[in-house]
Amino acid sequence: MADKRDYYDVLGVDKNADKKTIKKAYRKLAMKYHPDVNKDDPDAEEKFKELSEAYGVLSDDEKRQRYDQFGHAGMDGFSQEDIFNNINFEDIFGNFSFGGGQGGFGSIFEDLFGFGGAPNRRNDRGRDIAHTIDITLEEVANGVSKDLDITHLKSCPHCHGERSEPGTSSKTCTSCNGSGQVRQVQNTPLGQFSTVSPCPQCKGEGKIIETPCTECHGKGLTRTTNKISIPIPAGVETGSRLRVAGEGDDGLNGAPAGDLYITINVLHHDLFERNGQHLYYDLDISYVQACLGSEVEVPTIDGGTATVKIPAGTQTESTFKLRGEGIKHVNWSGKGNLYVKVHVVVPKKLSDKQRDLLKEFADVSGEEISHAKTGFFDKVKESLNK
Ligand SMILES: [Zn+2]
Ligand SMILES: [Zn+2]
Repeated sequence: MADKRDYYDVLGVDKNADKKTIKKAYRKLAMKYHPDVNKDDPDAEEKFKELSEAYGVLSDDEKRQRYDQFGHAGMDGFSQEDIFNNINFEDIFGNFSFGGGQGGFGSIFEDLFGFGGAPNRRNDRGRDIAHTIDITLEEVANGVSKDLDITHLKSCPHCHGERSEPGTSSKTCTSCNGSGQVRQVQNTPLGQFSTVSPCPQCKGEGKIIETPCTECHGKGLTRTTNKISIPIPAGVETGSRLRVAGEGDDGLNGAPAGDLYITINVLHHDLFERNGQHLYYDLDISYVQACLGSEVEVPTIDGGTATVKIPAGTQTESTFKLRGEGIKHVNWSGKGNLYVKVHVVVPKKLSDKQRDLLKEFADVSGEEISHAKTGFFDKVKESLNK
């Protein structure tokens, strides 16, 4: 499906819709497009599948979050079965029966997708793991590789994830004959409802371990810590997420491993402020530098320096742009700029000579520097005496 529609559009809800709204939207549309109801519309079946897939994702917190972040690409790790297993059809359509009641939603799903709507297999995919990494602004500028100790559940080296002590074997579950599933048919006033659920005897595995592995106690997985090198591209920002495929927990019974998600936290920098690709630096200059103009060296994020040309007559708070001295964009090759904002600093102390020269400067400028003899409070006193 190359042009998959947005799940929110499919259900006609907005991105912030709560679970109740999503459920209501799905129920309404599913009733309309249910193939038993809408027998004349040849597209009804496809439409119903599309709706159910959208609902299966958006009604599950983890899947929805993943979809919001990565779009359809984020769903790659889930099979269609994973997605539909989420949906509790009895909950949604419990008081509604279709097509005269021969078969409920369980059977419609079996017809459409080749499996039951009720859970029929354990979700064995490994758990995702999340970590946060602090990096400096210098590391953001250059990109960096970080070694991280990740503790995750990996396939037990003793039994290779088989769960039985090596040399022993498991036996086929007699309750389900190894299929891992049991089918139940419920007769309700609204019709027959057929569900397939995991076998309670073997918990859906189809086999029973007789001698559990002594290393992992039959779990198939052991907790191990591995050093994992995480390449962090230049230009990431606080909140950027990186996915390291397969470094979450291993799956059970050969199911895919979960992923490791790294969230970036960029540390505060003493010299530079950052906004996207651009950096900002505050530079103090003297009154004389502002008047006469000057060339001033400023630090750059790569550890070097760059020269800012301050023209004669520069006003305080003026900003100068140093092109390309910012940060590389995480996806493009271009670099941002360094903006240098100058602050003209008035000296707090003057030597006698400096004072004389400034007085002379004022004279030449025709500026009269008078020192008021009466301060504010004297003026208040004067006015009160009047
Ligand atoms: Zn083991
Ligand atoms: Zn069984």
